Parts: sequence; C-alpha cells; structure tokens
Amino acid sequence: MEITSVDLLNKLKEFFGFDSFKGEQEEIIRHLIGGNDTFVLMPTGGGKSLCYQLPALVMDGTAIVISPLIALMKNQVDAIRGFVANKNKEGVAHFLNSSLNKTQIQEVKDDLLSGATKLLYVAPESLTKEENIQLLKQIKISFYAIDEAHCISEWGHDFRPEYRKIRSIVEEIGVAPIIALTATATPKVQSDIQKNLSMSDAKVFKDSFNRKNLYYEIRDKTNVKREIIKFIKNNRGKSGIIYCLSRKKVEDIAEFLNVNGIKARPYHAGMDAATRAKNQDAFLMEEVDVIVATIAFGMGIDKPDVRFVIHYDIPKSLEGYYQETGRAGRDGKEGQCIAFYSYKDIQKLEKFMQGKPLAEQEIGKQLLLETVSYAESNRCRRKIILNYFGEGYDEENCGCCDNCLHPKKLFDGQEDLLLVIELINSMRERFKAEHLANILGGVSNSIIKSYEHHQHELFGIGKDKGPRYWMAIIRQGLILHFLDKDIEQYGLAFVTPKGEEFFKTPYQVMMTEDREFTDGDDEDEDEDVIIGNNKQAAGGADPVLFAMLKDVRHSLSKRLKLPPFVIFTDPSLEDMSLHYPITVDELKNCQGVGEGKAKKYGKEFLALIEKYVEENDIDRPTDFVVKSVVNKSANKVYIIQNIDRKIPLDDIADAKNMELSELIAELEAIVNAGTKINIDYYLRQNIDEDKIDDIYEYFRYDASSDSVIEAMKELGRDYSEEEVRLVRIKFMSELAN
Ligand code: ADP
Ligand code: MG
Repeated sequence: MEITSVDLLNKLKEFFGFDSFKGEQEEIIRHLIGGNDTFVLMPTGGGKSLCYQLPALVMDGTAIVISPLIALMKNQVDAIRGFVANKNKEGVAHFLNSSLNKTQIQEVKDDLLSGATKLLYVAPESLTKEENIQLLKQIKISFYAIDEAHCISEWGHDFRPEYRKIRSIVEEIGVAPIIALTATATPKVQSDIQKNLSMSDAKVFKDSFNRKNLYYEIRDKTNVKREIIKFIKNNRGKSGIIYCLSRKKVEDIAEFLNVNGIKARPYHAGMDAATRAKNQDAFLMEEVDVIVATIAFGMGIDKPDVRFVIHYDIPKSLEGYYQETGRAGRDGKEGQCIAFYSYKDIQKLEKFMQGKPLAEQEIGKQLLLETVSYAESNRCRRKIILNYFGEGYDEENCGCCDNCLHPKKLFDGQEDLLLVIELINSMRERFKAEHLANILGGVSNSIIKSYEHHQHELFGIGKDKGPRYWMAIIRQGLILHFLDKDIEQYGLAFVTPKGEEFFKTPYQVMMTEDREFTDGDDEDEDEDVIIGNNKQAAGGADPVLFAMLKDVRHSLSKRLKLPPFVIFTDPSLEDMSLHYPITVDELKNCQGVGEGKAKKYGKEFLALIEKYVEENDIDRPTDFVVKSVVNKSANKVYIIQNIDRKIPLDDIADAKNMELSELIAELEAIVNAGTKINIDYYLRQNIDEDKIDDIYEYFRYDASSDSVIEAMKELGRDYSEEEVRLVRIKFMSELAN
C-alpha cells in the first residue's frame, strides 16, 4: 500500500491530534504499511502504541493486537473509539478476553465479520482458543502486532509461556506482517523474540534507551522506611510509585505511609479486581500521591508525570528495574529512581529459586548477578544500563546518577582476592560466602567451630578488616567471574577457571571501595520509626496548631533575644502539628528536634499542644513510637568522635571519602538534630577571626532566617559559602542546642 508523508501526517492529526511523529514512528509505520515484518525497540513512553494503531486505522482488514495487559485493553479500545468520528465508532476497536459475556462476544463477532473492526486486542490465552482461531480465519488480517514482546523470552523479565505459541497460531489463522514491540530487550532477548516469531529478517528500529531525565541512585537498605518518608516529604505533592517484591510488604508500606500523613494506596495481584482498579484510578486521578505495588502494577500505565520510582526491594533483573524506573518522567521532566539494596535480599531471591528447573535457575542466577554488579558498581549507572541493553554510551560523566555525582574510589584487590581463592582451594568441601568471610575476618561461631575452621591457618588473617570487608571482596569476585556459586547447593562458592588462571598468574584487579552497604535488611527497623495512626494526621499538618506554635516561637524568640529559627525550624513545627507530641520524649521524635532542643525550648510548646489536644478532642497517635536509639549512622558517630578529638575537618572528610562540602552538610544535619559540636579549633585555624565574628553577629542579630544564601547576600563578597556555613554551625550549636 502506498501512502504519502502528507497523508500520514493528516491521519496523525485527524485521529490522534498530534502535529508530528515522535522519533522513528513515521519510518516504522511506513515499513509496516509496506507489508514488512517490523521490530520496534523503544523505551517506555516512546510512543509504541501509535506505531500499530495508526497503520491499523488506514490499512485494509483488521489488525490483531496481542497484549498481556487485559486490565488495560478496555482503556486502549475506548481511546481508539474516541479518535474515530464515524458512525460505527463502537465497532472500530474491540477486545477479546476472558472478561466478556456471551452477548458481548457476539457483538465483537458481528463487527469483525462485517469488516467494521480495524483493531482487535486479544489476550494471548484467548488467542489460543479454538473457536477464536476459527473466527479469525474468516476475516482479512492486516497485520499482527505483538506488544510487550519480551514476554516471549525466558531471558526477559516477564516470561509468559502462551506467548511462545503465537507463531503457530498466526500460521493457522493466516500469515500477515508482524510488528513486535517492546521497551526492554537485551540483545539476547531480542534474538529470542525474532527467532520465536520467525521474523529474523525483520527490520529493527531501535531508539536510544537513554532516558536523560532520569536520575538513578542506589541506597543502602537500612532505615528504609524512615528514608522513604523523608524522601516523600521532601517531594511533597509529587506522584510516585514504590515497588516491593511481596504483597505483604506492599500492604505494610502503604499503611505505614498513610499513618505518616502520606496519601498512598496498595496494588498487587492478590487484591480483587475492583479494588485494584479503584486504587489505580485514585493514583491516575491524583487523589493519592503514591501507589505502593508489586510489579503487577504499571505495565502500560500512561501517567506522564510520575516523579519518582522507589524500589523498596531490589528487582530480580536489570530488565525489570529498567522497565519499572522507566515509568518515571515519561513527560521528559524530572524522574528520580531510588533503589534500596542489601545483599541479604539477593540471597532471599536466590533461595526462592531453589528447586526450580536447573535451566531456569541458571538464567535467574545470571540475571541476579547482573543486578548485584549494577548495584555495587562504582561506574556510571546510565552507562551500565545502556551497555546492558546493547547500546554504547560515550560520556565520561552522565551527571545524573549517584556514581557520577559522588564518585567512589578504587583499590587493587589482587592480594585479598588471592587469599579468598587460597582459602577455597585449601578446603575439601565447599562453603557459603559468609562462612569464608568469617574465617578470613576471624569470626568464630558454632558452625566455624564445628568444622574446626577457627584452627585453619588463614583464620583471622584479615581480622583488622572484618568479615563485612571480606564479603565485599567475595561479592566482587563473583561479579568479576573469578568465583561462582551453586544455588541448588545453598549458594556454596567455588573458583571458576578464570579464578584458577588468576591464582596461577595474578594480576591487578581493581575493586570499589566499600560502598557502606550493610548486609542488614529492615526487619528490625520498625521499632525505630515514628508512626502515628490518627486520622487528622493523614491530611498533613494541622494548620491551626501550626500557626499557634509559630506564635509561641515568636514570643519566645523575643524573650530570649534569639532568632526564631534558632529555637525550632518551620519543618520542626510542622512535624509537631502532625504528631501532637506532649512529652519531651515524643518531641524528640520530631524532625530537627534533638534532646538538647527538646529540653531547652520544648516546655511551652508541649504545654500548648497538650491543651490544644484536649480542647479539640484530638485523637492523638497512640503508637507514637519513642525512638529507642538516636538515629546516628556510623558516619555521624565517627564524625562526632573525631571532632571531639579536634581532627582537622579536611582529614575527617578524606578519611570518609567525602568532599568538605559533604562533610559540612553532615555537620549541619548533626547540629540541626540537636547535637552540640565544637569546631572552634578548626575555625580559628582557617578563618580570620574578624570574619568569624561578623558572620556570627549576622546570624545572632540580623538574620530573619537561617538561609545561607541570604546571609551571603547580606554579608557581601568577602565571605565564602563555606565560611558562612561553618560559622553558622558554630552559632547553631552554641545557641540552639
Ligand atoms: P509506550 O507504549 O512506548 O510506552 P505509549 O504508546 O503509551 O508509549 O505512548 C506514550 C505517550 O506518548 C502517550 O501519552 C502518547 O499519547 C504519546 N505520543 C505518542 N506518539 C506521539 C506523537 N507523535 N506526538 C505526541 N505524543 C505522542
Ligand atoms: Mg505500550
């Protein structure tokens, strides 16, 4: 069929209301209309649907669209009916799946046979039904579109066995051109798809997979819930998705967010269809900000302004990860992708694979290993992802992932890797990675003793570095294929031929410095989290109380002759009007309120809140959990200790592999949380005394807020940002804490 560019553009405008094609849409459409097999690889949001919808509307016959997304078929069909303005617009698109009743099926049949239907969406399991095959045999097929084609491949992240039958069914119904579309296909998956559909000669249209607007970050999985709350509160009003691997976790997190004043709904395959649809709509219609879901949610969801995707659990494959993160920022604007990673989660996933067919295990293991190496890598995340999908990326620094923004150091792990291999080779049996790490790190426990490994000559040889370090070496050995492990055998580690080769003739092996990944997961974090379960809190902070608290702060500030922000910052007051604390211990749980501040300034605020709660009959959060340990990360403790020892800040920063500015940010956080620190020794050596006084006086008497930018405007060019921030730390520490 011949069609001019102008015609195509007219159709684009007429049916879809768009003025121009996106990416390679036009070439793809022409190729398909020309009667050729077509393979489309385009990232999520790239505009794949149009590549078959438009041809279907202009070509003779009916296009068969195979898609696994039954839940979305109706939406798609409705959308197409909306595009078409002719009399029989109901008939122009239909879907065929298990949700239809007899009358509805008859309607579909009638429209198909009369030639009114241009697009028929079919679920793969409906396509395999004999009666449907008989029906489709009778009509003219324009082409077959196979959406989410990665479902064909076992190497994809969403394998569906019925997808493998498509080719034979196509042959039964009648051969016509095929267009296969997917957003995620490694070269391996791509070749699987093409082979399986007998379309190895198809022209491949591959759009760049680079999603420039997405920011990728991997975080250590500790205090996850708190981190998530913090993140969402810093991104208030934005839409986001949180992915969890289990249904239970989904329910748990959704509830947790709600009690903490964040509007969220759960979504997973264990819920009934009506509730699922309701929750999905609530998210699409922005009645709630966050949807907490298993991977059952999101395929084909077209919400352009999802601003963040959080992986509470690390996904099973990079393909899944990329697809899921791809749902952020479809409109080309901001999209933050944060994944929480702990090696324990990987081990859990490995355990699930036990007992499955070996071939499947082998595949699963490979995919997981790719995920681990991505998570632990110090390389540009964008580069790793693109390389994984067979695309090069030449930039040195993408400027939009954690590794590019905060580069990690490398060291030569040759000696230590040799020790690991020596240890494995010295033993007649195989052992798990932890066991090996414990031997080298000199940790004795009952299992070690039962094998008498505390007597082993290598026991404790790397005691100074500790077992966590050795786990990291072993993991990197696995990632770099010097080691491997047998999942069926409980993950027992062994040396690969590459490892043996290296052992014979060792060479330099660059490894990343420990990324501070703990092995922990979140199982014991719950007690540490602030939870309020009251209804008022769900809508956010109480504005009346907030205003009253501000008044108290104002009069206190006058009395004490201190700027208001020194007493409590706005976010602190906001938190108070969310959680209604009435004791000092509860107050300490509010953002930016440490022990010192709570005791020093808290009294009047608490009295006011108590009165307010009583007078307004407010149902206070009953399980406002009191923090058992102050949440000081290892880093913070280290910093505080070294400041007590008067170690120069530059040296502390170096030791922690931080920039000075990052260290200053940490100090600010420490001081804001109410801890007193004394950095006079450092200030005196590095900043002119007069300058210190000027900045100090400014904050003491002139400032109306704690803003550094304002301070710098006021103070003028002679004062650097660093100086201002450092003196502010002194000031806040002395006056506020
Ligand atoms: P994919 O299936 O590749 O993830 P969709 O087909 O759902 O993507 O399309 C993503 C978004 O892009 C949709 O909102 C769609 O309307 C829009 N879109 C598609 N083609 C064009 C175009 N030529 N111009 C403008 N917007 C388009
Ligand atoms: Mg799509």
